[in-house]
Amino acid sequence: MTDRLTSAFRELYGAAPDGVWSAPGRVNLIGEYTDFNDGSVLPLALPHTTLAAVSRREDGVLRLHSGDVEGSVAELRVEELAPGSGGGWAAYPAGVVWALRDAGHPVTGADIHIASTVPTGAGLSSSAALEVVTALACDDLFGLGLRPWQLARLSQRAENVFVGVPCGVMDQTASACCTEGHALHLDTRDLSQRQVPFDLVGQGLRLLVVDTRVKHELGDGAYATRRAGCEEAARALGVQALRDVVPERLDEALAELDDVTLRRYVRHVVTENARVEEVVALLDPGAPASPGKAPGRSDIRGIGPVLTVGHASLRDDFEVSCAELDLVVESGLAAGAVGARMTGGGFGGSAIVLVEEADTESVAKSVTEAFAAAGHRAPRIFPALPSAGAKRLA
Ligand code: ADP
Ligand code: MG
Repeated sequence: MTDRLTSAFRELYGAAPDGVWSAPGRVNLIGEYTDFNDGSVLPLALPHTTLAAVSRREDGVLRLHSGDVEGSVAELRVEELAPGSGGGWAAYPAGVVWALRDAGHPVTGADIHIASTVPTGAGLSSSAALEVVTALACDDLFGLGLRPWQLARLSQRAENVFVGVPCGVMDQTASACCTEGHALHLDTRDLSQRQVPFDLVGQGLRLLVVDTRVKHELGDGAYATRRAGCEEAARALGVQALRDVVPERLDEALAELDDVTLRRYVRHVVTENARVEEVVALLDPGAPASPGKAPGRSDIRGIGPVLTVGHASLRDDFEVSCAELDLVVESGLAAGAVGARMTGGGFGGSAIVLVEEADTESVAKSVTEAFAAAGHRAPRIFPALPSAGAKRLA
């Protein structure tokens, strides 16, 4: 893969690249729609990565090419980069260069060639992988000395301000900071993070990612409505964010709200945030969350029902699921899965299904058959082990 990338770079730009970097896509294990409520999330990096072959330039020119989209090399001038100055895929890497320069880092130009195995638009964060790989390459080539979480923040800023997508910081942090064999427990309020062991193989389990290959249009508007609804509910309850409503106070909080929709949003966010803590406690018993407790055995099987309850909450209370995602969960569970839920923003995209290793094939087959029987396009299904975050490859 690296060799092919390097020779493509050489053909495009006439010389070998200074280096090759990679950054992964991600799935979120639990903690959906908690990030804009200052809550916690628990993503893991996928084995699918976006690679960038990059050479440094001193002349203010930024050249961008992706082997995954039609089109020739885009040539931009770094000092002309500004939010809204360019659309299309190139806005993601260009936005990162803009964000770095805007933060005062001396990035004087680059030649970049991209190739990725992260499915795009499937809710697996190909956009974050593209941003983070660009940020890491620039960090290395210009000796910026930035920490992975700083690269994530700058990448998020690129997507929010330059590309114009109001995403939280989870995707970029997962791509930059995840480590092999772990999920990343990220507190989106104080940005503290902890690696939580997630040894699927050691416990005889597999995590199937099911890309439904649909993307229903209501997605963008629904995100805005829910975000506004959560902020309105927090104001009505007199808290900074819904993460400040502790589960023990949930009933009390619900009784204070007249609007039935807001009540459902609050119930999802508060219970979902609690589910993140519950899953972390199962995966890493005896860790700081439960001081004094003797370290026990990580129980991945035990998280299955928590994932499934989380799906019901997203479907019924937050109303961001869709027929295809519900069908993955139903058919997966009917075929013996340990737990299943939609992951990411919903309205299509992907779901995760936790299965016994021995059931991997049969569950995947059952989900595929259920899709065929319902007249849906065949889903794309692959097992995912928790993989490494962004790194230099060559
Ligand atoms: P997701 O992040 O869930 O995959 P997004 O809509 O946020 O979906 O980002 C997808 C967009 O990111 C693509 O439409 C494209 O503009 C850009 N992108 C991602 N990966 C690549 C790639 N390998 N080459 C070119 N553009 C890419
Ligand atoms: Mg994205």
